[in-house]
Order: sequence, then C-alpha cells, then structure tokens
Amino acid sequence: MSKILSLFLLLFLFIGFQGVAQQKIVLVIDVGHGGRDPGNLAVGKKMINEKYLNLKIAKKFGAYVKKHLKNVKVIYTRKTDKYVSLEDRTDIANDNNADLFISIHCNSNPDTAIYGTRIHIHSEKNKKAVRFAKSIDNQFTTRAARKSIGVCDRRFRGYDLFVVKRTNMTALLIETGFMSNPAEEKYLNTTYGQDIIASAIFRGFREYIKKNLPKKKTRTKKTGLIYKVQISASPVKLSKSKFKHLKMKVDESYYKQNKYKYKYTVGNAKSFGEANKLRRKVAKKGFKDAFVITEKK
Ligand SMILES: [Zn+2]
Repeated sequence: MSKILSLFLLLFLFIGFQGVAQQKIVLVIDVGHGGRDPGNLAVGKKMINEKYLNLKIAKKFGAYVKKHLKNVKVIYTRKTDKYVSLEDRTDIANDNNADLFISIHCNSNPDTAIYGTRIHIHSEKNKKAVRFAKSIDNQFTTRAARKSIGVCDRRFRGYDLFVVKRTNMTALLIETGFMSNPAEEKYLNTTYGQDIIASAIFRGFREYIKKNLPKKKTRTKKTGLIYKVQISASPVKLSKSKFKHLKMKVDESYYKQNKYKYKYTVGNAKSFGEANKLRRKVAKKGFKDAFVITEKK
C-alpha cells in the first residue's frame, strides 16, 4: 500500500470512528425546580406542586424516547426531588455536548381563566429553535388536543430565560399547562394528562430529529469501510472551477509532506460497487484516471 493511500485510509478510519463516537443524538431533559424550590404551588385539593408534576411528565417523555429512539441518549438534570441550580442545569447540557435541550415546567397566572401550553425559546432568529418548538407545539394542538398559547422568544417576553439562553445547543422551555386554571391543574395531575403531554413532546421531538438531525454515518459503523473516488492530486491548490462541471461535492485534503500536497475526492460510499459507479461517472466527465480508495480490516 502506498504511503499516500495509507494516509488516506488512516484519515478515513479516523473520520469513521468519529462517526461512531458521535452517532448518538444527545438529549438533555431538564426537569424544572426540585428540592427546596417547589416551583408553582399546588392550588386545588390533592394536587401536587410543580416540581413533582415536572418530574412525572419528564420521566414519561424520557421513557418514550428510550423505548422508541435507540439513537438518542437521554440525560436528565435531575431524576429525584433535589435542588439543582440553573448553572448546573446548563453545565450538564454544555459539558455533555447535548444536541437538544428541553426544559419541562408548569405555568401559573393570577388570571385563573388563562390556560394552555406555551413554548419558550431564546430568540426567534434561531431558526432551528423555532422549528423545534413548532414541531412540539403542533403536536400539542393536534394529537394532544390541547390549547396552545404559542411559541415565544425573549423579545416577546421582555426578559431572558437563563436555561435557554446559556445552553449552547437548540433549547426549549416547555410550559405544559397552567396550574392556576382549575381544569388544567386537574388534567396535569392525572396520569392520563401527563401521558398525553409527554407523548406529544415525544412525537414533536421525534419529528424534529427525523427532519433536522439526520443519522450520523451509520454506514461507517456497520461495515467499517469507506469508499471514495480520488479524482485528482496536485502539488498546488486547484481552483474549484476545475471540478464545477461534475456538479458534485469535491473534498480537498492537504498533505504537507507529499509532493502532490492536494488530493481531491468525491463520494462517501458504503460499497465498492457504489464507488465504482461514481468512478465511471467522473471518468466520463474527464477524470479518466480516477480510482477508488478502499480500506479493509
Ligand atoms: Zn417552572
């Protein structure tokens, strides 16, 4: 095996391992309040404080994710009735390089007639957060048949929410309903209501990751092989216009020690056949000497 080829293979293997290591989508479920911080206090008879409701809904949501989405790793900020500071909550998400963050809460208002779900994001300029919020909001109003009072950001609120501001990933804070509204408080206190809310969050989450977080390089894990087509190598950097007519994504790699420092490849195939097909295609478009690079363990 030539030196250049070995280098390539090492690089691909490295990328492959990264693919495997990063494969799981990391979801942090932040369970609002806890311990000495009860959140909103129960209003009706036999009703429970917000910190307990949050935990019940969050655990149901997490259980759905664990059961149905094997590619998602769930991390809770708390699983018991304990106090966790806001800094610790966001640290947990940031330190674990979470992809998504969902904080679970229950709302309250002096006006007991107000009810419905609300989803908070940091800024409407963050299109991912908007899509993520709307995906869940849509589930609340359709399948869960809840009333929604919408998605809102800091400009709408007029103040910042620490956990959605300080987290580095797409983050939501979900108010699952108003404890100050007697009917909604009752609903939130039933296993049925908690189930409906949790499954709506789950479905919205599932829909969002399906469309917006594509599976990360599962092919690498399955076969341990990557096939690419090298179309060119050059001692100097080539202009992209040279490959423009291919209408493909061309990857450039740089090797300081080699005479042909710049390598150009296309494709990221899981089989030789697939890569070879691609080689024939680029050969027809002028790259007659293109060849497939492969690695076998
Ligand atoms: Zn709360």
